[in-house]
Amino acid sequence: MADLATLRGLLRGLEEELVVCMRCGMCQAVCPVFGQTGREADVARGKLALLDGLLQAMLEDPEGVRARLERCLLCGSCAAQCPSGVNALGIFLKARAILAGYLGLSPAKKAIFRRLLAHPRVLDRAVAFAAVFQRLLARPVNETVGTSCGRIPAPVLAGRHFRPLAAEPFHRRCPSRETPPREGGPRVALFTGCLIDKIFPSVAEAALRVLDHRGAGVFVPPGQGCCGIPALSGGDLATFRRLVAWHLDLFDPGRFDVLVTCCATCTATLKKLWPALCEGPVAARARALAEKTMDISQFLVRRLGVAGAPGAGREGRVVTVHDPCHLKKSLGVFAEPRELIRAAGGWALREMEGSDDCCGMGGSFNLAHYELSKAIGRLKRARIAATGCEVVATGCPACMLQISDMLSQAGDAIAVRHPVELYAASLPD
Ligand code: SF4
Ligand code: SF4
Repeated sequence: MADLATLRGLLRGLEEELVVCMRCGMCQAVCPVFGQTGREADVARGKLALLDGLLQAMLEDPEGVRARLERCLLCGSCAAQCPSGVNALGIFLKARAILAGYLGLSPAKKAIFRRLLAHPRVLDRAVAFAAVFQRLLARPVNETVGTSCGRIPAPVLAGRHFRPLAAEPFHRRCPSRETPPREGGPRVALFTGCLIDKIFPSVAEAALRVLDHRGAGVFVPPGQGCCGIPALSGGDLATFRRLVAWHLDLFDPGRFDVLVTCCATCTATLKKLWPALCEGPVAARARALAEKTMDISQFLVRRLGVAGAPGAGREGRVVTVHDPCHLKKSLGVFAEPRELIRAAGGWALREMEGSDDCCGMGGSFNLAHYELSKAIGRLKRARIAATGCEVVATGCPACMLQISDMLSQAGDAIAVRHPVELYAASLPD
């Protein structure tokens, strides 16, 4: 735990960024948490004001400060809307790390971040173990959405309908790979990410299928783990940095031209947070990797010019698109997933109201504030259902989890897919 003098020094580092906020309140209109609670303490302006007087607040009620800072989805809607360019996300993440440094991590977070997340192989083994027990404890509940629920009520599940752990994660289906490109095609590295690996391996398989079909060489190094965002969101900068260094050793930039991920959150983390929150030579290596990192839809459409699969132009089943915050607000990617779906053909794209409104997942926010998360998620579900779609497509596995939960609890028969899955399904065998 840091002493007060150290804390004062760390907080000084935030001051320059905090003064940029002119307290205009424009972030209120877009904050999904404020939209539900109407509490100034929940919106970016209120949190920034808290941080401005943080030293005093820390002396009076340190746990209260932490609780307020954690009532945030880290969706970035406020930063995207801010006329002054306040880097709210960066400030919140640094503030969480400072608080964790001062107060320490809770025993549960310490065990999860330091014993599991920080060690990709240990995490793999723990999740494989959980996947076996899941068969005993969960039962399928909505076939179209692909969700399960607990066989017996358990407080930790809170009535959730969840996408089960895959019987065979992607790292077992494809332990490693390095295939050469065809006829001058690009060499592409695939960063899998935990959720794709352990819950949605079919998404990574779809990406491989499309990349193979387009003649790309594919590099999948063994031993991949988490991008580090759960640890960073929990204030554990040390585990985050450990995971960055781990992956920088795995992904030697000399072996590929582009690194793609199928997870909006991983892409935003690799591109923005890895370089920003590491130091020295690690930061320089992270910057080099960030320059090569792209979302899979963005890469397929912008670099490979994917268009015109056999069914392209033919309209059919209705699909709507949810824009993940980390894809649209953080990276400005939103046209590409739609172009990929159009290129697949056989789909009538029908936009929902507020396609880029946050789904309410927010990682650990969903665990800590499920009722609030659910209230935000239900709005998203209603807008999806109002389109009359058969499928909702989104480029983030965390959004896929939240949307699946909301659709399934409402009894909808709407499938949740990644755009690359729709495109891969349109390719000839
Ligand atoms: S964070 Fe930006 S939008 Fe919100 S009050 Fe400050 S200046 Fe205004
Ligand atoms: S990151 Fe999202 S939830 Fe957090 S304050 Fe900003 S708009 Fe609200």
